[in-house]
Amino acid sequence: MPGQDALVITDIDIYPSFLEATVRCRADRVLVDARTYGRVEQLLPGVSDQLCVHAGHSRFGEEACGTELPHLLEHVAIELLVLEARDYSPDEQSTFLGATTWRAGSDGPRASSGSGGRDGKPRRSVFSNGRGNDGAGEFREMRVRLTFSHDLVALAALKHGEQIVRWACGERDEPPDVGEVIRGMHLLRER
Ligand SMILES: [Zn+2]
Repeated sequence: MPGQDALVITDIDIYPSFLEATVRCRADRVLVDARTYGRVEQLLPGVSDQLCVHAGHSRFGEEACGTELPHLLEHVAIELLVLEARDYSPDEQSTFLGATTWRAGSDGPRASSGSGGRDGKPRRSVFSNGRGNDGAGEFREMRVRLTFSHDLVALAALKHGEQIVRWACGERDEPPDVGEVIRGMHLLRER
């Protein structure tokens, strides 16, 4: 139920080469704490090495604590896409671009970020300031954008990412099985 979860994907728009999701957070739990990030880092160590152009940092690991949960979701989903490409689809795109911005009317403590894969190449980033606060009250909404080579694989990465972030926030006891998640994503590619 949206009112209970730390993070909920409320809608997803699919475009030819990217998707964009609205992610809703509880206003009192928007930011990533050290415990939450520690769990993510243990499950997906590569997340820390992803490039992230935000506040002068270059690695997401330096930015993660204190950033917003949807921004963490963006990097988790990218890591799942990177792992699927690495393990199963070496000939497919393995650099993915993401961006997380405040949704208009859902202004928050920070404006935006851009980020991408971790193969060392420069990344384009997207910056967009929130446009005021409509008094959304107990929720904050951000838009998370991901580029993809296969729409279903990217959708799965986003939905599994949502589950992983919820688990990291302490909302599920069982840690997700990343190997199973990646395998399942790959099966979607073969349909
Ligand atoms: Zn980032």
